[in-house]
Amino acid sequence: MHTIYLDHAATTALDARVLDAMLPYLTTEYGNASSIPTEVTFTGCGSESDNLAIKGIAFASQKKGNHLVTSPIEHHAVLHTCQYLERFGFKTTYVPVDSYGRLDPDDIGRALTDQTALVSIMYANNEVGTIEPVAEIGRICRARKIPFHVDAVQAGGSLPIDVAELNADLLSLSAHKFYGPKGVGILYARQGVRLLPQVQGGSQERGKRAGTENVAGIVGAATALRLAYEDLPRVMPRIIALRDRLIAGVLDIAGSQLTGHPTERLPNNASFVFEGVEGESILLSLDLLGVAASTGSACTSGSVDPSHVLLAMHLPVELAHGSLRLTLGKDNTDEDVDAILTALPGIIEKLRQLR
Ligand code: PLP
Repeated sequence: MHTIYLDHAATTALDARVLDAMLPYLTTEYGNASSIPTEVTFTGCGSESDNLAIKGIAFASQKKGNHLVTSPIEHHAVLHTCQYLERFGFKTTYVPVDSYGRLDPDDIGRALTDQTALVSIMYANNEVGTIEPVAEIGRICRARKIPFHVDAVQAGGSLPIDVAELNADLLSLSAHKFYGPKGVGILYARQGVRLLPQVQGGSQERGKRAGTENVAGIVGAATALRLAYEDLPRVMPRIIALRDRLIAGVLDIAGSQLTGHPTERLPNNASFVFEGVEGESILLSLDLLGVAASTGSACTSGSVDPSHVLLAMHLPVELAHGSLRLTLGKDNTDEDVDAILTALPGIIEKLRQLR
């Protein structure tokens, strides 16, 4: 059966050019790493980059302040890290989002206090694709001299990433989201930002993360990032056209609704809710047709709780249960979109009749 992969927000296939670049470092070039960039730390995943940024800053500045600011639609790598820090005396403010999942930068400004140690906001949401006004939030933080961390794990490879333009002091990426290897995260930390390491041991990564570096993985991450941005002008207009056709076609289904912002959204994200249907059942039906998709966040699939993102956007619980996320990649075709648009109306209708 021909499979149609529409779950690129969860993970992507390794690009053959990336594998070629990595192979020598898994075979002949096995020496220990020595020279590495000063503002970049390689970690074991995007989650670890988020953890290092948030805990690293929080514990380094605890004497100055114990207040964290984030949003309720962040990835669990951020939310659970803030919750963990609450055990150590930190307090978190979760600045609410609107019904599109978008933050108002002024709300962030109002949440800041003299005790605020860090603001952590995602560049784009992994479930609904909404792009946050991070440059403006960063400007507000910088004026108050508060470190600003951007979880750019979903945006990496899709949106322009310039830490100066985004006013980001720290920024997290994960290689497997842009056709790089799994198990490699990247943390940018502006020079001068004080981070307390979270893995103790040797002095690798300039003392920010102990442990022998994953050289092949790092080469793969760097190659994948370079290729993603070289390919962007060619690949993104095509993906946007596919996304827009997918969105228009799916919204023809009665009782369907787009989730996330209509224009300020990731180029590859088409996410919906359907009245009177369980997202899990849609996934099963699509799976039988060889289509890989997701409901809510891939990381929480398998649990029946409605997505924390959709609830924070004030979607009724009933509707939030009927969510479907289709995320396109560079190898998807018009035929893939046609196949979904042919199959989905029947699937939704059948599932509604079963209830
Ligand atoms: N942050 C966001 C926004 C994500 O979408 C993800 C993964 O889905 C992560 C962090 C965690 O990245 P990783 O899977 O590399 O740990």
